[in-house]
Order: sequence, then structure tokens, then C-alpha cells
Amino acid sequence: MDQVIYLDNNATTAVAPEVLEVMLPYYQKSYGNPSSMHTFGGSLAHDIARAREQVASLFAAQTSEIVFTSCGTESDNAALRGVLEAYPEKRHLITTRVEHPAVLNLAKHLEQHGYQVTYLPVDMQGRLDLDHLRAAIRPDTAVVSIMYANNETGTVFPVTQIGQIVKERGSVFHCDAVQAAGKLSLDTRSIPADLISISGHKLHAPKGVGALYIRRGTRFVPFIIGGHQEHGRRGGTENVAGIVGLGRACELARTSREQEGSRQAALRDRLEARVLERISEVQVNGDRDHRLPNTTNISFSYIEGEAILLKLNERNICASSGSACTSGSLEPSHVLRAMGVPFTAIHGSVRFSFSRYNTEAEVDFVLQELPGIIAELRNMSPFWARRAREEKSTCPDPLP
Ligand code: PLP
Repeated sequence: MDQVIYLDNNATTAVAPEVLEVMLPYYQKSYGNPSSMHTFGGSLAHDIARAREQVASLFAAQTSEIVFTSCGTESDNAALRGVLEAYPEKRHLITTRVEHPAVLNLAKHLEQHGYQVTYLPVDMQGRLDLDHLRAAIRPDTAVVSIMYANNETGTVFPVTQIGQIVKERGSVFHCDAVQAAGKLSLDTRSIPADLISISGHKLHAPKGVGALYIRRGTRFVPFIIGGHQEHGRRGGTENVAGIVGLGRACELARTSREQEGSRQAALRDRLEARVLERISEVQVNGDRDHRLPNTTNISFSYIEGEAILLKLNERNICASSGSACTSGSLEPSHVLRAMGVPFTAIHGSVRFSFSRYNTEAEVDFVLQELPGIIAELRNMSPFWARRAREEKSTCPDPLP
């Protein structure tokens, strides 16, 4: 195929044409500053207000509960730092071993600055044991930060139950929903989270815009201090085009989520089922019963995920070997390690993640190419050769 087959949508997504269309006027025609006294700039505040309504609808929340940010990482940092600063007497926080670096590296940083952190473990399928969570919450736990869905495996955590446990024990619950937004319900009437992070570029809005839901009544100190923007909760001249784009993207997500979810799950399942059928020594990583509809993480044992990606890349197929933010380091995925996935499987793991723009023809093209790629790489792999020899020596033909 000449066209790129983009199956890396957990890394980032294409800006939807409907989103781009509403954004364009803000670059050259309506480029004013919403804080200006004149109508040219000041009237843009209405456009931001409308976008805030659209984002609030995705959460079934009030507009006053939405703060615009620059990305998911900022939303996560603002949430955790904002709560910790609001509860200076509480010096403990809880998170999981499989969070995105936006939370995990912040937690490690906070540990170096006098905070205590509990990192909850997961099982082989990436699931949390809620008794571990119950046991971990202490009177001095300021905040519990647990993701909604994992970016590498798609495993979905039971955030409603998690929120109930955290609230019963009197702590604050922050949920990183960057991967869940647009794919799962973010209805804050049923998810008892105090703060929820989302990021524009994961749901067909542009990079450089995100949002933080802050439930009414949550104690929060602004992370970015500056002007009066966002009602004093996040300083900085607004990214009007990005905000308007995020609003439109949230509207699209709200109206097409369920239908798109089933369509993408069918594509994902087609890929997964045929890979399992046609290629030996593969395993699907994560909780297959509780997963994002668009994600599969498959390990092709005895070869390197990076080598598979390069071969796919030669055929214009984009996938990923772990989190977009950690690839390049060649460090084995911290998520798969936390799950106890065997070494040979971790190294051969590839994530395929779908979006509204993927088609069945694309899946079939991948299925046409992938078995040959895996066979070629395994033929060159010393691990595969050793495994084949071991198999021969441990299973001799019983017949003379
Ligand atoms: N949280 C999760 C679960 C993510 O997957 C990502 C990005 O991959 C982020 C946070 C960070 O979002 P951003 O890239 O917008 O900073």
C-alpha cells in the first residue's frame, strides 16, 4: 500500500477534518486575545465558553469544573501538585506501577522531595487488586492517582469502584483518562473522581491542548500561576484554536463513541484472532475482558519488537513497541515488566491501536504482511534457533 496505515493511535491521532475546520479561523482571522477590552479579542471568550460546554458535556459536568491545559502531562502534573499543595500536612500518595510517565516520573520526583509514594502492583493481566488499594490508603494519603485505561495494553481499571474506595477513606481521587477519553464513558455522575485528565491529541484534536476536570469543592492550588485566565486556576493566554478544536473533538467523541467503539473492536479482534491463528508463539498482553476497544498488545516471542516495527515501517505500517514516550530508549516496557510478562515476550511486544479512520482493508494488508515478517526475523534470531534446538532435544521422536 502506498498510503500510510496508521495503527499507532494511542501515541497520537489525526486531527479530524471537522475539528480542523472550526480551528482555522482562529489563526488568521480571529486571532485576538480573549482578555482584550476590544470586541475583536474579547468576543473570543464566548467561543472558549462554548468549547468549555462541549468538554463539560463529555464529563456530564458543569462548565466551572473544566480547566483547559496544554496537554495530558500538564493536566496530570496540575492535578497531583495542585492537591498536594492544598493538603500540605499530608505527605503520602498512591499510584500504580503501570501509570504513564506523566504520573510515574512525577511520583518519583516527589519521593525525592520528601513525599512517600505507594506503587500498587498489578497481576499478569495488568489488573489491580482492590484490597491492596484499601490497605494502602492512610490518614495522610493526600491523593490516589490511578489511570482509567493503560496506554500500552489498553487494560481498563474499575474506576467507579476505585473512586468509591478512595472517597470512603477520605482521600482525593485523580484519574488519568488520557487514553479513555473518546473511547469510554467519562460520566462523572458515575465515576467518583475528583480530578480527571484528558489530552486533545488522543481524540482527534490537535497537540498542545488538554483539559483537567476538577469536581466542584475539590481543594486545588493552581499549578501554573500567572494571569486571571481559567478563573485563576491556570495562567497563560488561551490557545483559542486548540480549545475550540478540543471542544469540537469532545462533541464528536460524545456522539460517535459507542458506534466507533464496536467498529474498532471488530477490526482489532479480526487482527488479533488471525494473528493468533497464523503465527506461533504469540500472546496478547493485558486484560482481554476489560480493554479499550481500539488496543491490542501482542508479543511475538524470540524477536525484537523494534525489528518488527522497522519491517512494518518498510511497508508503510505504523505501530509501536510500548509507550510512545519511552520508545527510543530500548528500555523494556515498565508496564509489561510490572505484569511479569516473560523477558522473551516483552522484547517482542508490539502495540496496534486503531482510530475512526482505520478500515478492514488495512487490517487485511497487515495480516498479509505480518506472518512473513515474523518468519523472516525468527529465521535470523539466535533465540529462536536455540528454542528450536531445545524443543528437538527435549521432545525426541519416540519412534525408531
Ligand atoms: N497519560 C497517558 C495514559 C498517556 O497515554 C499519555 C500520552 O501518551 C499522557 C498521559 C500524556 O499526554 P500528553 O502527550 O498529552 O502530554
